[in-house]
Parts: sequence; structure tokens; C-alpha cells
Amino acid sequence: MLKVEKLSSGYGNVQIIWDASFEVRDGEVVAILGSNGAGKTTLVRTITGMIKPRSGSVIFDGEQLAGKSSRAILDHGIVQVPEGRQLFTEMSVYENLEMGAYSKETKEKLSESLEFVYRWFPKLKERKGQAAGTLSGGEQQMVAVGRALIGLPKLLILDEPSLGLAPNIVDDILQVAHSMAKEQGISVILVEQDITKALRMADRGYVVENGRITLEGTSSELKANEHVKKAYLGI
Ligand code: ATP
Repeated sequence: MLKVEKLSSGYGNVQIIWDASFEVRDGEVVAILGSNGAGKTTLVRTITGMIKPRSGSVIFDGEQLAGKSSRAILDHGIVQVPEGRQLFTEMSVYENLEMGAYSKETKEKLSESLEFVYRWFPKLKERKGQAAGTLSGGEQQMVAVGRALIGLPKLLILDEPSLGLAPNIVDDILQVAHSMAKEQGISVILVEQDITKALRMADRGYVVENGRITLEGTSSELKANEHVKKAYLGI
């Protein structure tokens, strides 16, 4: 469904991403792995149109998206849960979720989508009137994922969902992402520094180092890879 070929991008004169090629198939969970500053966020922001590519292509469901606006890319069904969640902290859980409905179609389906989100995250229903900034970190991440789901994604991009969360909460969030892919057919890109957790959930993964994709494979192949073991898993 997504085929990225030789994508390059950066900020100003500084090139960060160099010739990145990877793909995501229908209903797959694909991990983008790498350490701090490797370029993972820059890579996914280039796919969602927040950063303009310098060269390369992003084909989604047969259409070329490279160079299109982030709004146009959102309309194609690629929805990102940003790193750090970026909620409106003064607004209620419900109001934050509602912000995920940006198009005519998503607005029309809002109440149905809300029920869907509340089924996956029952806590959010209990807390729907509470200011988002007063929720726990895990609950805030649920709101961020919920808001993305209200946008009816075909491809959901999660950027470091584990950041600052307790391990059991990370497991819950990743489990929902996995279920989205396997039960709802929503493909997932999971950007993670926590490689052990990511490889437990993902079908396949790509390792980003210094802005280049240096390794790819199924989760079991990557777990068994000597470089991954030494550099990222500490074994
Ligand atoms: P992290 O896990 O810490 O988020 P990452 O792999 O997502 O890391 P990026 O955030 O993509 O890495 O950063 C890659 C490089 O791009 C870093 O050297 C960073 O300093 C640089 N960078 C990121 N955002 C900007 C920006 N807005 N302007 C200039 N340089 C940036």
C-alpha cells in the first residue's frame, strides 16, 4: 500500500534523510527503528508532507504523494500520531478527539468513530469531560491515538508512543496498534527507540542510522541480526 523509493529530505541546507526506500503492505505493522537523532521522525514527517522531499517518491495506493501538502496526504488516509502527543491540554478529552475529524467524511462518521475509540480505550469514555492536560501520560497517549483513529486512517503512523510511559502502558498501546492492523486492516508504521518492544509487535522492521536505512528484515531476522544485537539490544 505504501512504497517509498529513494526518498531524501532535510532542513534548510542540511540533508538528513538519504535515499530511503521501504514499503508497508496491507495490514502490516512495520517498525522504523534507530537511536536518538538517527532521522526516524524526519523520515515519517517527509512521508506525511510536513517536510518536503528533495527527491524520491512516496506511492500510496498507487498514487504519487511526494510533494503534496500534508492536508492532501491526510485526505489519502495517512494519519500520524506525533511524537510528544501534542494535545490541546486545556481542552477536554472529547474536544481533543473531535479535532481528529477534519474532513466531511470523518465529521459525518464522528459519533460512530467515537464509539469505536471508546471501545478500544474505555478509560477515555469515563474521562471524556476531563481536561486532557490533567490525564496521566498513558491516557494522553490514548487520546493521541484515538484522535488519529477518528481521522479514519488507512495507514497509522505512531511516532515513539513509548516516550515517557510505564512499560505496561506501552504494551497496552502497542497491543491496540497491533489489533488495528490485524483486526481492522489499518496498516501501522511504528517509530521506536525501544527496539525490543517494537520487534515484539511488528511484522517487519527497518533500521535507520545517520539518515540511511541500513538494515531491513522480519522481526525475527532483525532480532537475530548480530549488528542489531550488539548495537541496540545490548546482547
Ligand atoms: P529521536 O528519536 O530523538 O526523535 P529521530 O531518529 O526521530 O530521533 P530526528 O528527530 O529525525 O531523529 O532528527 C534527525 C536529525 O535532524 C537530528 O540531527 C536533528 O538535530 C535534526 N533536526 C530535527 N528537526 C530539525 C529541525 N526542525 N531543524 C533542523 N534540524 C532538525
